[in-house]
Amino acid sequence: MPLEFAKKRVCGVVSAETAREMRGQLIEGLRETSTMELRLDFLESAKELDSFLRWLAAKRPRGTFYATCRTARGGGKFRGSREEEIAILQRAARAGCRWCDVEIETAKHFSASELRSALAPARLLISHHNFRRTPRNLAAIYRELVRAGGQAIKIAAECRSIADTAKILDLARLRRNVVAVPMGETGVAGRILSLRAGSLLTYAAVGKSTAPGQLSIGAMQHLYRVEELSRKTRVYGVIGDPIGHSLSPLLHNTAFHARKVDAVFVPFLVRDLRDFLENLDAFGVAGFAITIPHKEKIIRHLDGCDPLAERIGAVNTVVVRGRGRLYGYNTDYIGALRSLEGRLIFAGSRILLFGAGGAARAAAFALAQAGASVCIASRTAARARALARATGAHAIERSALRREFFDVVINCTPVGMYPRGGSPLKSEELNCRIVMDMVYRPRQTELLQMARKKGIETVSGIEMFLAQGMAQYEIWTGQRAPEAAMRRVIEDVLAREEKSQGK
Ligand code: NAP
Repeated sequence: MPLEFAKKRVCGVVSAETAREMRGQLIEGLRETSTMELRLDFLESAKELDSFLRWLAAKRPRGTFYATCRTARGGGKFRGSREEEIAILQRAARAGCRWCDVEIETAKHFSASELRSALAPARLLISHHNFRRTPRNLAAIYRELVRAGGQAIKIAAECRSIADTAKILDLARLRRNVVAVPMGETGVAGRILSLRAGSLLTYAAVGKSTAPGQLSIGAMQHLYRVEELSRKTRVYGVIGDPIGHSLSPLLHNTAFHARKVDAVFVPFLVRDLRDFLENLDAFGVAGFAITIPHKEKIIRHLDGCDPLAERIGAVNTVVVRGRGRLYGYNTDYIGALRSLEGRLIFAGSRILLFGAGGAARAAAFALAQAGASVCIASRTAARARALARATGAHAIERSALRREFFDVVINCTPVGMYPRGGSPLKSEELNCRIVMDMVYRPRQTELLQMARKKGIETVSGIEMFLAQGMAQYEIWTGQRAPEAAMRRVIEDVLAREEKSQGK
């Protein structure tokens, strides 16, 4: 049995400069979890520290508290001597902290029994931090931390690759009483999956994030529900670079929760496809979505591909079948069709795609296949011509747009996206019945506002985002996607975002 460590394994991190703020954060964090790390090194003076510890000793709030006084070397703010560090932790232990987290650099100057008796009745968590990279010799580091007297040990290291993250989680899987902390943007997926791998704790920010890649406590508890994840939980994710802005985790985790599917959806920052694909097993990945810049490159790594995705030459959805075989689909294709279905009859209609990148490519195949006559215009005319040749569409010069009429005009460029805004087309170039924007942040782009003013029907990029996401969900689970829940969560988050931008 692992050591009785804490009832709640999401550990909220409390870090503030004043005792007052620290108390406020602690109280706020205790609404989400009963396990808290108190970053005493953040308190700006001996007076603030004293005030906070007195309050803690007097009030004894219920919970399991880990005191730490991290030095600058360990990524913290404490600049005193190691004896002073231990003296502060000693006071925290007396004030009710059940654990003291001591860096190995401090711990190695004391014997294990000296440390344990100095910090009693608190138990000892000995930690190793590396903010530059994941060390090769994790097993040796583990042994060193145990020898230093750790009743539990913590390894926090910057991950430069998915393989690094897998290595850190492996330690939690194979050894007892380990807190595994994959740091950095690449480590985010590992932070979410560390409890599932067997880590005793995962950290989450109550106030500001205190370490690279640390998520908020709200995200850990409500978006990823990390305490509910078990080895049986199926893991899905989205891979891309950049990935932090993706709304896919919100979309799919909401859907899994609504349908009570035991699965989680995680963002993987993937710079090198091979690095991710070689470590699928370590995370137990059952399927994944793909975004920029890997949609085309992934194809050569697949064992099989939906014929349409193959024709399009881009895959945005992969299912991992038995023995790690990968099968690819393109749901942007489905998304483009579903966003317009019911608004017009495709056969015989004339549709303009503005832009000739990956999304335009999927839309061109989809709409041509559905019987529409597709025209493509693009900033780079040669790209429009090449895409038109590949899809049986017609390339059209930008200068012709003022004179031409279309049933639908679709923006397939990123122009209009928050925060830059702008419109890819001018009002006089919109001679059509429907304008659709693939951009969905903001919901009402300048292009759509302009179209509305002209009395043209508009279709927001949200429709395509939802439709492609619903199709992904159905491919992975074989169940109908919970459309209402998925729509609500995306509409709500975008509405909040617009409100906070004062729109
Ligand atoms: P991509 O492959 O990079 O292609 C971008 C296209 O936009 C290219 O044709 C590019 O023209 C053009 N472009 C870029 N900046 C431009 C500018 N300032 N003025 C005029 N044209 C410009 O990107 P993608 O994957 O096709 O994605 C395009 C957009 O669709 C993105 O905003 C993406 O987020 C969105 N999208 C939305 C959904 C959804 O579900 N709603 C799904 C997929 C994509 P050049 O060749 O001249 O550079």
